[in-house]
Amino acid sequence: MSLIDLLKSRRPADAQPSSAAPASAPFRSTRSDARATAPEAVLRGLAPDGGLYVDPEIASGNFDVRGCLALDPLGQSAKILSRLLPGFGDMGSLVRRAYEGRFASKELTPLVPVGENYVLELFHGPTAAFKDVALCMLPQLMTAAREITGMTDKTVILTATSGDTGKAALEGFHDVPGTGIMVFFPHKGVSAVQEAQMLTQEGANVAVCAVKGNFDDCQSAVKQLFSRYADSAPVPGVRLSSANSINIGRLAPQVVYYFLAYASLMKQGRITYGAPVDYVVPTGNFGDILAGWYAKQLGLPVGRLVCASNANRVLTDFLTTGVYDRRREFFKTSSPSMDILVSSNLERLLFYAAGGDTACVKNDMLRLQNSGYYKISAKALDFIRKDFSAYCCGEAETLAEIRRCFSETGYLPDTHTAVALHAAQLYKKEEHSGAPVVVLSTASPFKFPAAVLTALGEAPEGDAFQQMAQLARVSGLEPPVSLSGLQGKAYLHNDVIEKADIADYVLKNVGRL
Ligand SMILES: *Cc1c(COP(=O)(O)O)cnc(C)c1O
Repeated sequence: MSLIDLLKSRRPADAQPSSAAPASAPFRSTRSDARATAPEAVLRGLAPDGGLYVDPEIASGNFDVRGCLALDPLGQSAKILSRLLPGFGDMGSLVRRAYEGRFASKELTPLVPVGENYVLELFHGPTAAFKDVALCMLPQLMTAAREITGMTDKTVILTATSGDTGKAALEGFHDVPGTGIMVFFPHKGVSAVQEAQMLTQEGANVAVCAVKGNFDDCQSAVKQLFSRYADSAPVPGVRLSSANSINIGRLAPQVVYYFLAYASLMKQGRITYGAPVDYVVPTGNFGDILAGWYAKQLGLPVGRLVCASNANRVLTDFLTTGVYDRRREFFKTSSPSMDILVSSNLERLLFYAAGGDTACVKNDMLRLQNSGYYKISAKALDFIRKDFSAYCCGEAETLAEIRRCFSETGYLPDTHTAVALHAAQLYKKEEHSGAPVVVLSTASPFKFPAAVLTALGEAPEGDAFQQMAQLARVSGLEPPVSLSGLQGKAYLHNDVIEKADIADYVLKNVGRL
């Protein structure tokens, strides 16, 4: 009998995941003592009380880091995911199904020397953004979780996207049996290439909808729906779940590439085991960088985690002062995937910083919702600043960094990566210890051709595809086929709604997926 069969046999076939998880359930909500097993947490996305699922024992010290680093990339993935998400049975086969043949590089996420630093290229998956690393894996986890828990209702994934999650989730979930996928993106708030990626999506179980609002509007509407339908069906036979990084199943696969980068530095002879490595992360919803903190909790010798923000610098201010204040102007920047004022995953870090005091976290989150700000204790801020630094990068500086990097090193970063490269320079000037610096690169420059061309001093010409070709000529690089191949494809989705109508739209359309 396989482990999945064994687990299944312990539950009635039609049982839905219930909040009465066994006491051994490793996950709990950040806002109450609601518990869940890993498969339940993945299926639910958000906890019923609106909190995020966390493992209070993340730093229990029972993970063989050295043994893990010696494995190949898929082996490291399987080992890390088995630790972070217990109860899924044969993680190795889920990992192989997720990644084999889907990434352009066998290393999954190659580490490239650029000047004195290293760039960790996370964008070689099917949609040319780092979200692919997690969103190739999530459908495998979701499908396995449905089997393990005996879920028979359809799982409909609601996704708010600042540009990249939408396409990566559509690519992962289209035509997956037992699931549907609905994506909301800010109308006129994503790049032309990102829009083309989403609006040309085929599949019988997909819906894509533009919202007259920003990412925060989309995310907050979707989170409210998760809370409202945590224990009930929005329409009979349907359960909602999330592909955003509020879902622990989305966050966990991102922990892996921090290990892959470390292993690569060891292999290159740049470090020996135990030496600290700093990571600079272009940040929006705080998922990617939190995954680095999880890697550190598992025992990986992570030095500092440097949070890089664009002109929407709410996190830079928070990590400096301990005051989180979203009452400020919202900027649409050339790094749209980071145009976020409410960074959901910070809630997980607050849980650990507050020593597991869920009442404290709940209070802060209510205050953020009702008053637009909160302030953490000096002790909690110290806890966070032990590991995190923060720098931001304005619009002019982003474009200047692309130009500088390309002319000085020959490496062409996208706008998000440029924000991080600029932050890396500030960090090195202010407080750097001398450890190797790994800058996470979250997207291909061909996803943002107009901005990158402008940065290089070229006037962008024609539509997004002509701009991609123009960028190829100027840079001597090839655009990823997943992007250039969109040209001429039919646009299949044209819904545009007001932000107040998101819930209605979901209820009207969720049944047809
Ligand atoms: C989503 C995204 C980010 C931000 O990642 P978070 O996990 O939301 O902090 C940065 N760059 C790109 C290109 C992205 O798509």
